[in-house]
Amino acid sequence: MDLPTVITYSGLMACIMGLILLFLARSYPAYIKGVRTWAVAPLLASLAVFCRVWLRQLVPDAVAIGSQNVCLIATAGFFLAGTCEFFEVPIHRRFLPLLIIGSALATWMFTGYEGAEIHRRLFARTLLIGLYGRMAWVIYSQPPSWVKRLASGVVTFLVGLILTRALIGYVLPGTDGVDSHEIFQLIYAVGFSSTDVLIPICALLMITERLRLVLEQVAMQDSLTGALTRRAWFDFGEAAMTGCRRRDTPLSLLMLDLDHFKDINDKHGHWVGDQVLRDFVSRTQASLRQPFYMGRYGGEEFAVLLPDTPIDEAAKVAERIRSHRSADTTLPDYSVSIGVATLQADTTSLQALIQRADQSLYRAKQQGRDRVELAEAPAKTALAPGVLMSC
Ligand code: GH3
Ligand code: MG
Ligand code: MG
Repeated sequence: MDLPTVITYSGLMACIMGLILLFLARSYPAYIKGVRTWAVAPLLASLAVFCRVWLRQLVPDAVAIGSQNVCLIATAGFFLAGTCEFFEVPIHRRFLPLLIIGSALATWMFTGYEGAEIHRRLFARTLLIGLYGRMAWVIYSQPPSWVKRLASGVVTFLVGLILTRALIGYVLPGTDGVDSHEIFQLIYAVGFSSTDVLIPICALLMITERLRLVLEQVAMQDSLTGALTRRAWFDFGEAAMTGCRRRDTPLSLLMLDLDHFKDINDKHGHWVGDQVLRDFVSRTQASLRQPFYMGRYGGEEFAVLLPDTPIDEAAKVAERIRSHRSADTTLPDYSVSIGVATLQADTTSLQALIQRADQSLYRAKQQGRDRVELAEAPAKTALAPGVLMSC
């Protein structure tokens, strides 16, 4: 296959990739940033192919190659900008130097500096690169109206063309010597296929990975409190239970329920109620050692699994959580009741363990709240003050 055919195919691929990226950008605008910007890069690259292969047959080389280079430089710019957006790196300030370096490298690849005019050309080329960079920058930094962005970009581009023409007599030099050398052909082919195919493929892989993380987070993490969702907690719980049975180690469970939480909502509003829930989860998680699994079991009810922990240690942990008052003075004072149970030889399922811990929690509530109740007697250690035991 000859070079123009390879380039044509890669241009078509770029167009398809760009459209796929655009489709993804439309489907998940809230979750993945920068995809729309990324999508412009392969579309511009396919435009560069159009300039290179077809426009060249219609208009003089200089204009075709010049437009192609502009497209390629803008492709690099859009790809860099998309990458900055995707990784949430602020593009102001950092974008311009990156773009100019990228543009300089791109132009260096496609043109050579020979002969006596080298200094004048170098100066003109640098100026041109700066102007192209400025053009892409203007397109990006203007208010979010595409018409204004494009209009200012076009004006800067035209100024660049006029200045360059005045300085060196033509827009960009022709391709003398470029196509005749195999090495340049190779650079062309690699350059085209990387901007057209490899970069969009990398973008697609990164988007898929980002989406996976987002979905995982949505499925596993309660959006209000950051605790595990009920479903994720059950998955971890089943695995922890199997692990503890295999290792023949104890497994304890705490069921926690905030006291008179409805009153907090009624008195201070739901927003404050939400703050209390967040505060409770963050301070409870801070007082637990790893690994622990804290899940939101219901509205203001939480479950904590403590693998490899016997009931007496679990009772101490529960007491620490109960007695730890919030440091946030803007929140109303609140307390928690806790039921504790451990895995017994005859506990058949996680659900059965939850039921026992729940019964203890119910007793804690009945006996006045703000207390810890155990489902079974600890083996030896004395109970901490505040911990009650009713088997
Ligand atoms: P008790 O001491 O017996 O547990 O009394 P309580 O008021 O805490 O229990 P109850 O089950 O009567 O009320 C729980 C309240 O929790 C009712 C519900 O509106 C509130 N709630 C559930 N989920 C949320 C939430 O996400 N945010 C807020 N602010 N309130 C919630
Ligand atoms: Mg409650
Ligand atoms: Mg409740």
